[in-house]
Amino acid sequence: MPIPPAKHCRIRKNSYNSRVVQNEDTRYTHAMNYVVQKSETAEIPGFDDLDLSPVMRRALKHAGFEKPSPIQAQLIPLALEGEDVIGQARTGTGKTAAFAIPILEQLDPLEECRDPQAIIIVPTRELADQVGRETQMLARGVPTEVAVLAGGKDIKRQLRQLENGVQIVVGTPGRLHDHLQRRSLRTDKVWCVVLDEADRMLDIGFRPQIERILRKCSKDRQTLLLSATLPPTVRRLAETYMQEPVVIDCCDKDIAVDTIEQRYFTVSHDKKLELLERLLERENPKQAIIFCRTKRGTDRLYRQLSRTYPACGSMHGDLAQRERDRVLQQLRDDKLQILVATDVVGRGIDISTISHIINYDMPQDCDDYVHRVGRTGRMGRDGIAFTFVVPGEGDSLTSIEQRINKQLKRDHFEGLDPPAAVQLAPKAEETVKKAAPKLNPMHRKVTRRRR
Ligand code: AMP
Repeated sequence: MPIPPAKHCRIRKNSYNSRVVQNEDTRYTHAMNYVVQKSETAEIPGFDDLDLSPVMRRALKHAGFEKPSPIQAQLIPLALEGEDVIGQARTGTGKTAAFAIPILEQLDPLEECRDPQAIIIVPTRELADQVGRETQMLARGVPTEVAVLAGGKDIKRQLRQLENGVQIVVGTPGRLHDHLQRRSLRTDKVWCVVLDEADRMLDIGFRPQIERILRKCSKDRQTLLLSATLPPTVRRLAETYMQEPVVIDCCDKDIAVDTIEQRYFTVSHDKKLELLERLLERENPKQAIIFCRTKRGTDRLYRQLSRTYPACGSMHGDLAQRERDRVLQQLRDDKLQILVATDVVGRGIDISTISHIINYDMPQDCDDYVHRVGRTGRMGRDGIAFTFVVPGEGDSLTSIEQRINKQLKRDHFEGLDPPAAVQLAPKAEETVKKAAPKLNPMHRKVTRRRR
């Protein structure tokens, strides 16, 4: 592969030990679009091999991070060299620390610069809080001002915080854009922009706000883009706003991570609640998220369950932000055993103690399934996910299995299976037949779900 000339790069001193992270003679062995593939066999280096400052190593030790995750091992050195990087990684892989560590390592102290130096753009308010918290945790040992600028939160407080000086801003596109328009968010000193969960932000329709924020920042900035998938929309954004990005692929080939056991139940509509109660009794989960499709359905199920389970909460888009924050905090503090929720919780949220995911209602598409199930099994821990399939939903189950290239195991309780005749609606059976050849024959017996 030809070696392109060294591009102009930022030489930055970090605030703690004045380490210069790159000299101008550095030449790159990775060209534009060169994909650094995940290597199954490569030895993952330790944090000690990543050339981090002593204070950062202490912060990592304090956080209990012993070894970098694959995305961290690959992204941190590149980011420290000033590269633009596209990291293909799902949540739960340690991607927040992968971009937060190099930013923290290169921050100028607040006394030297009171305007934001890095902007981290994330799709949801909950994720903004989470990324803000993790960044602050990793900043341990060095006074660092991190502002979370998310919608639904008191803007006056945010204005005061910006006025007082911040080094890192984490925010949702809408609120960040709002601050830009008010001129309360200054971008002249921003040297790094992170687009976290870029695919999700574009799905939601945040492209115009993201583009405006990027255009406001210096062209010479560093851009780090994290995304679970790289559809054409994300690639176009990268082509327009990134400079010779290096692409790191840290997504497992199988979308659903290996540590998550995935099962399904067939059940008729009127028996779903009974099935759920028996399942909860059998599993006695440490912490479970039960996903429903609608806000009303979520409220109803929450009311029904909270009679038996006092440590039960609910969350959906109609709840005030304050209430959503409170519920998530309770979940983090281990005060909730069960959370009934819509897909508002399906993305980004990281609570490592979630042991069970129950899809009480079938997710609307395969992406939602992957994101819901990804709330458990974080950072390689064990997790289990159950999906309730009512008659007529066999085709959705098949699509999920095709997408994750994995067969879900069937589970059942005596007396709760729907009558054989209605297990799969005719349409669903057809889909199963048609879909079968696409699947790995070693993985699948099409007859399995028929009686
Ligand atoms: P994320 O993918 O950024 O949402 O991270 C998932 C979880 O893993 C978070 O709770 C992190 O604090 C945690 N984490 C990140 N990196 C490491 C690491 N190297 N070792 C252990 N835990 C980590």
